[in-house]
Amino acid sequence: MAKCSVCGKPAVYVAKYEGKAYCADHFLKWFDKRVRKTIRKYRMFGPKEHIVVAVSGGKDSLAALHYMSRLSKRVPGWTVEALLIDEGIEGYRPITIRDFKRWAEEWGVSYRIVSFKEEIGASLDEIIKLGLEKGLPYQPCTYCGVFRRYLLNKAAREMDATVLVTGHNLDDEVQTFMMNILRHDMDRMSRLGPTTDAGTEYFVRRAKIFYEIPEKEIVIYSMLHGFFPEFVECPYARLGFRWDVRHYINLLEERYPGIKYNILKSALDVSQAVRKTRPPQHPQLCKICGEPSKGPVCRACELRIMLGLLEKPDWFELPKK
Ligand SMILES: [Zn+2]
Ligand SMILES: [Zn+2]
Repeated sequence: MAKCSVCGKPAVYVAKYEGKAYCADHFLKWFDKRVRKTIRKYRMFGPKEHIVVAVSGGKDSLAALHYMSRLSKRVPGWTVEALLIDEGIEGYRPITIRDFKRWAEEWGVSYRIVSFKEEIGASLDEIIKLGLEKGLPYQPCTYCGVFRRYLLNKAAREMDATVLVTGHNLDDEVQTFMMNILRHDMDRMSRLGPTTDAGTEYFVRRAKIFYEIPEKEIVIYSMLHGFFPEFVECPYARLGFRWDVRHYINLLEERYPGIKYNILKSALDVSQAVRKTRPPQHPQLCKICGEPSKGPVCRACELRIMLGLLEKPDWFELPKK
């Protein structure tokens, strides 16, 4: 059995890419040191911040909330709140919401829950039915993604967030980078990275505090702190492509420890280079809801019109597919 490289006690984790092992105590110290290093390196926070953590109910975002709620106690100018988007997925959401509330209360973090039902006019389950009735393609993850992004930004802004923290980790980032390469999706490529540039009055700045932390280590962090959530999988998850990419990257990491960090460096360079080739987009405001948008009507309103949840204004033509 491996022994802790610091104190010689039995190790709970071996970091192959570093050639070191850690006992529970030294793992947590090492974890903390690395997250703080990431935060400093990418200048994620200033001396005064109202930090909103986007919680999905999974281990990564719960760990981000746990971490930020503790760290903020040491920084007088920081306040932390949590934001959960309730898509309305039967058999999945109720369990994660119950767990989330329990932990938030235990950690003394106030929170806001925003639901698709109230804000969009229908739950995700209902939206999917409506879509099929209207003859739209079966695309649960598109609806979910568009409305989630929309509501996260809107709600975080309403909460006066100066920064929105998400639980994305090293593995997520590396997988997304490889998927963008394999699909040649340079639009998405330009959005990768540990933070988004300075927020605007429309967009809340984003920060990924676990940008350099492997998924496995977040699992251990959660377990050592005793809040590892019950694993419930989203019934709409189509793991297909990401699942395969994840599998091959893990295989490579097993054979060539440290390869994920090399991919991460490539991702950072490539996304910065791609961004330079694209002029910054100044968002317009959606003529229907007033939220930031690429065109005169935002994607969320467009989808709501297509689903019959919003009346189509006379001046607006739906894009032809
Ligand atoms: Zn130790
Ligand atoms: Zn809109």
